[in-house]
Amino acid sequence: MNDILPTDSAKWEFFEETVTRVARQYGYRNMRAPIVEYTPLFVRSIGEVTDIVEKEMYSFEDKLNGEKLTLRPELTAGLVRAAVEANLTYNGPVRVYTLGQVFRHERPQKGRYRQFNQFDVECFGFDGPDVDAEIMIMTARIWRELGINDVRLEINSLGGVDERAAYRSKLIAHYEANLPALDDEAKKRLHSNPMRILDSKVASVIEVNKSAPVLLDSLQNESRAHFEGLQQLLTEANVQFVVNPRIVRGMDYYNRTAFEFVTDRFGSPLTVCGGGRYDGLFEQLGGKATPAIGFGMGVERVLMMLGDSTPVTTLDAYIVHAGVAAQKAASALAETLRDAGLAVAQHGGSLGGMGSFKSQMKKADASGARFALVIGDNEAATGTVAVKPLRDVHGAAIQGEQAIIAGSAVTAHLRA
Ligand code: ATP
Ligand code: MG
Repeated sequence: MNDILPTDSAKWEFFEETVTRVARQYGYRNMRAPIVEYTPLFVRSIGEVTDIVEKEMYSFEDKLNGEKLTLRPELTAGLVRAAVEANLTYNGPVRVYTLGQVFRHERPQKGRYRQFNQFDVECFGFDGPDVDAEIMIMTARIWRELGINDVRLEINSLGGVDERAAYRSKLIAHYEANLPALDDEAKKRLHSNPMRILDSKVASVIEVNKSAPVLLDSLQNESRAHFEGLQQLLTEANVQFVVNPRIVRGMDYYNRTAFEFVTDRFGSPLTVCGGGRYDGLFEQLGGKATPAIGFGMGVERVLMMLGDSTPVTTLDAYIVHAGVAAQKAASALAETLRDAGLAVAQHGGSLGGMGSFKSQMKKADASGARFALVIGDNEAATGTVAVKPLRDVHGAAIQGEQAIIAGSAVTAHLRA
């Protein structure tokens, strides 16, 4: 689990502001569900025989009443539960987004944490491939706005219940014919959830998977048309994609469209965003039949891709002051500038005095502020301020000339 320190948070805020703005541009509204839910919600929705439910959930009993609770391992189940309870789609389909922590007990490694964050998008009540295309088009826009250009979109169709049943039999037959190559885990899943074996990271199983039948070949007309519709819409929108028949996704609730955005930036392929359709989940959780699609984006993994070029939100000014009268003038000036919408830090917080002019100027420099505003006895007496530029508009350090100006002119000077 990571701490996010003030030195890291500019990236987080840049990410959050970007995805929130773009989601709103597509008509999404914010929705938030609790971090803790009843355990059966996740077991029923994600599926009993999945990595998440079998070994990754943080589950515990409520000491007071023995209820079984789980820290959410993903965001979709809680949002769907809340949507069912509130009858959210009563007046028609809705698009929602949420940002939050999720928890999975995983072996820690680069890009894999036990508490991590997801940006999550859900469309409740839409069944056409147009919404599937729309959320991928929106995600492509998010990559552009974040300045990320090395992710590729991979799509697949998982078909419907009948198609999956037909495929399941073919798949079991394939694995039975290759039994010696399967590890214990794969053998265990052979009859309970054979599609999970397609996701195996064991070398001998990966070999067997190469010759496994693909679900796309089992699709019937309706699912096929849906998938072709999606591809046509993506092509018309100039969103590049590849069909990857091997995408299965880690949760049982998916059907038809499944997709991932993958990067090769870190050596082996890393999925930064994954999602798909889950047309049966509302009913499974006791709601009315409601087709739906959504995705979860791993925020930490996206931030790894942002590098250090993220625009940092900085202070407009840092106020340096010496003497009792100057401190009063500094406080008043700071509030006036904040009234005008500027970001201002006032040197302070020390009982033993404010420190030398030189040490205060060092703090001003380190703060990243564009200007140091200096108030000494003289300035306090004459209602003036010494303004020293520290950084240009791009945040680069500069050696600017200091100018003495009237206190009332500072706002305009900082804005110029
Ligand atoms: P993986 O195959 O890498 O375990 P997953 O299928 O479990 O991924 P999802 O459940 O689809 O992942 O979660 C959506 C996104 O959340 C992933 O694409 C990834 O970016 C991110 N993610 C998943 N697990 C972790 C983790 N332990 N730490 C950080 N990010 C994660
Ligand atoms: Mg996983």
